[in-house]
Amino acid sequence: MADAPAECNIKVLCRFRPLNQSEILRGDQFLPKFQGDDTVVVGGKSYAFDRVFPTNTTQEQVYNTCAKQIVKGMDELLNKLQFFKLVNACCVTSFSCFFLLIDVLCGYNGTIFAYGQTSSGKTHTMEGKLHDPHQMGIIPRIAEDIFNHIFAMDENLEFHIKVSYFEIYMDKIRDLLDVTKTNLSVHEDKNRVPYVKGCTERFVSSPDEVMDVIDEGKNNRHVAVTNMNEHSSRSHSIFLINIKQEHVETEQKLCGKLYLVDLAGSEKVSKTGAAGAVLDEAKNINKSLSALGNVISALAEGTKTHVPYRDSKMTRILQDSLGGNCRTTMFICCSPSSYNDTETKSTLMFGQRAK
Ligand code: ADP
Ligand code: MG
Repeated sequence: MADAPAECNIKVLCRFRPLNQSEILRGDQFLPKFQGDDTVVVGGKSYAFDRVFPTNTTQEQVYNTCAKQIVKGMDELLNKLQFFKLVNACCVTSFSCFFLLIDVLCGYNGTIFAYGQTSSGKTHTMEGKLHDPHQMGIIPRIAEDIFNHIFAMDENLEFHIKVSYFEIYMDKIRDLLDVTKTNLSVHEDKNRVPYVKGCTERFVSSPDEVMDVIDEGKNNRHVAVTNMNEHSSRSHSIFLINIKQEHVETEQKLCGKLYLVDLAGSEKVSKTGAAGAVLDEAKNINKSLSALGNVISALAEGTKTHVPYRDSKMTRILQDSLGGNCRTTMFICCSPSSYNDTETKSTLMFGQRAK
């Protein structure tokens, strides 16, 4: 895979959650001033993104504006595949061109991230309440959409969808679907595409099965750690959806991959006055988040010949799903409270680096 993508496709969306009960009771100020649908002003400085979602935006609205494009992208590819199949059948001379196009199509991957301090709404955005049709977040909605699309497709196409669920904590990769796998490593396949070796893969054939896998992973995580809230704010959780389709007659194959990443909290450690193990955790998180920031901004600049994917485990894993021919969406999640002023500004700055 080339280090320098020809074109990059990174969308940065900013979402503010509402003030919560304790912030209201404390009398915190509501900081953001929303302008149009792509700008927010905080502390007199204005920040523009591809889209800014004010506090009253519903889960459905968020999904409809962002994630749908990514799934639709996959769907377009499926349609194209059927089209190329026709071209191929009618015109043998276009054979090599056909395969070249298929190659390009096969490299089509995507990543959605949620970045922000603890309690800014990352998990709410990515997962939400899994079994509540109004409050469910992006992952369950994507699961539903993928299967809806598949059921409407050509019956000659066979789909194989598998998911994995793992977390990265202190630079160790832990399988959330198999508690015995606590330190998996990143390898490269024969096409030099990095992957997590030995990570559990589950075949799924309905949105409910996807939900079951998420529930299972979350339960495992609960059992493995003493304080789930603290732990989840210090680890990156990654849900991977792999879609492979094959035409039953022509045996043509097409692969798509989508990473859904709920990042560790981005807050600076000084606020909590940490020491020892907590400080180590914080340094580790800082390092991996800044490695991610460096990759995204190198991709966004587009002119960089070197994208530093190798600087962290996470960016290595995501290498073939970030930049290039991929769709990348980054959610910048923010608290509206004056109490979180400094963190919010630094989160907004992180998002600006990707523009
Ligand atoms: P994080 O994952 O960033 O630590 P959470 O997603 O867990 O934060 O959000 C913290 C709390 O705020 C949760 O109780 C969540 O339900 C609530 N919350 C977050 N975003 C919103 C939102 N946009 N609207 C309503 N409640 C929200
Ligand atoms: Mg969370």
